[in-house]
Amino acid sequence: MEIIRIEDSIIYTYKTGRSPAYRKAIACAFVTIFTYKGELKVAKTNRRDFIRQGLAAGLAFTSTGMVSRKTYSAVSSNFTRVVYRDLGSTGFKASEIGFGVLHITDTSLLHAAIDSGINYFDTAHSYMNGKCEEILGKVMKTRRNEIFLTTKIGRGRQGKMTRDIDTSLKRLQTDCLDLLLLHGAGYDNLKNDDILRVFDTARQQGKTRFVGVSTHDLEKVPDRLVESGFWDALTIPYNYFSPPVVAGKIKNVRDAGIAVIGMKNLITIPRPRKPFPNIRGDKSGEITNQQALLKWVLENQYIDTVIPGISAFEHLEDDIAVMGEKLTFGERRQLRRYSEKARSVYCQGIAGCTGCSGKCPKGVEINELNRCVNYAYGYGSVELAIENYRQLPLSSRVDTCKECEECPVVCVNGLDLSDNIRKARALFA
Ligand code: SF4
Ligand code: SF4
Repeated sequence: MEIIRIEDSIIYTYKTGRSPAYRKAIACAFVTIFTYKGELKVAKTNRRDFIRQGLAAGLAFTSTGMVSRKTYSAVSSNFTRVVYRDLGSTGFKASEIGFGVLHITDTSLLHAAIDSGINYFDTAHSYMNGKCEEILGKVMKTRRNEIFLTTKIGRGRQGKMTRDIDTSLKRLQTDCLDLLLLHGAGYDNLKNDDILRVFDTARQQGKTRFVGVSTHDLEKVPDRLVESGFWDALTIPYNYFSPPVVAGKIKNVRDAGIAVIGMKNLITIPRPRKPFPNIRGDKSGEITNQQALLKWVLENQYIDTVIPGISAFEHLEDDIAVMGEKLTFGERRQLRRYSEKARSVYCQGIAGCTGCSGKCPKGVEINELNRCVNYAYGYGSVELAIENYRQLPLSSRVDTCKECEECPVVCVNGLDLSDNIRKARALFA
């Protein structure tokens, strides 16, 4: 078994023994990856290297807002334009690739992204217990007017939500957000007067210019947004595995003038470049599988921007390079073959898959549990996994699962659910 440790945007790998007790002891500090047997090494690029590569390619590191600039991808060895799209009816033009600030350790990546022309940044009050907002805040102190700043707060009582907004503003070192989202909104939340009042007041008091929601409800929440006329933006999971109905919902929302931000674009798969060729058993093509996945998402004209989690310079380089690029025939084939493999490795519940057959008599929602496991194994963030796990109802937690001899829940995509439950137990029990 291999263990991956993420530190300072560099991923280290270790070989370990198989003792369950040992595994449990390290679960909160390390992410264990069972899937890949091959050697896992990630090229280390720091800010200095990133800038050197950019300068070598003629990149001017200026920060003049909306102007399209040339940047350089070490992956494709091509010059690529930074492309901007209208962000709903906000009047802002967002870079096609935004920055998901959910697992960062310092400010260098954020500065490099802004230098490169990325201007949409998304974080949350809860990410890394507020550290993400604090680190982003250090950058906002001097560069606030160069980006569109979004954060999210969770549901709660009015007073608590208002306090959370004020804390987020303080951490982000700004007195006004561009967009404040309700984190993980459900249909009922959008009819809750207390929640609506908190967001309306924040907008009226100038604590945010726009309000919106992030959600995993791909059906009723988008419809409610269109009906209500209250919200300015929707952040929604959208990736290669999303069923066609999601694209229809996105179009309706965008047609209503609401900004659409795509999240979970990489099918919650691990980000290091190297393992992906191994998963298919052959060599990768011109681009990485993650780049192909992003290109696929950006083919949808109703998506205004996407927010892949960026936690290393390699991610930044990869993601910037896809802007304005179309998927080729070969890449489409590569993506299809790759996704066939990934389908049986990572739960696609967040992309709208509801294909679990059977129901747990004890009420364990396996796809919810899988989502939390994916934050650790896919995103490489144990903190996010634990943070999301804590929000699950007690009935859905892994302690409720008795690992019955015959579980009636079966994944139509061939995911080994008992293996996922074991991973959940190692992480959360
Ligand atoms: S466990 Fe399988 S069938 Fe169930 S939501 Fe996840 S991918 Fe879909
Ligand atoms: S193994 Fe048993 S308790 Fe666990 S999810 Fe399946 S049916 Fe429920």
